[in-house]
Amino acid sequence: MPLTKDITFKCPECGEEIPLTLWQSVNTAENPKEAEALAYGDLFYIQCPKCGYQTMANYSLLYHDVEHGMMIQYIATPDREERAKEMAEYRKARKDSIEAAKAQDPALAKQLYGAVFRFVTSLNDLREKALILRAGLDDRYVELVKAYIMPQAANMKPDLGIESVRFFLDKDGKQYLYFFDKDGKEAGSCDFDMESYNAFKNGLSLVEADTDIIDTGWAREVISEIESQDTFQG
Ligand SMILES: [Zn+2]
Repeated sequence: MPLTKDITFKCPECGEEIPLTLWQSVNTAENPKEAEALAYGDLFYIQCPKCGYQTMANYSLLYHDVEHGMMIQYIATPDREERAKEMAEYRKARKDSIEAAKAQDPALAKQLYGAVFRFVTSLNDLREKALILRAGLDDRYVELVKAYIMPQAANMKPDLGIESVRFFLDKDGKQYLYFFDKDGKEAGSCDFDMESYNAFKNGLSLVEADTDIIDTGWAREVISEIESQDTFQG
């Protein structure tokens, strides 16, 4: 299976032809170096050697964290309708190949397709999920903690204009939440709240096959459902 494709990227500033390797699939067991580079963004970073222009390569790829049993398909297509169509195709192709592998080689099927599957629609979402997995955490409960803490942080520091929050893991293994304003500018950070994480994890059992899109919208829905039922003891 060809995993990479070599292309040249034309610098939009000076026209320099920059050689670039695109990864169609990155696997933590087979490509640990690239998996780390993906999580920290270096895999996509482009700098023109001639004029210094910097950008991020943005293309669809599959990330497979073998140790934590999750496959994440990033869809770079910006158009919402196109993206929904692509997702439907991926879902069908995945289902078909699982069926085929089951018939031919059940052990392989289990190894290849036994993983939890997620879609992400931005490079930052992909990197964040890769970091959550590297931290050994469950992305569903991390999203719940984020959705739970966001309004509190925004209320506590209204002058910062906090609009979004992301999980971050530094290379020493320390876990953070980073807050951003409406322009995506960093507006503060705090340690990741493991207490809330464990409270969600212990207090709320989720069915894994529920959805392949776990994001802020999903977490907000779960939280408003909990609040309406008022059964969660946090
Ligand atoms: Zn250039």
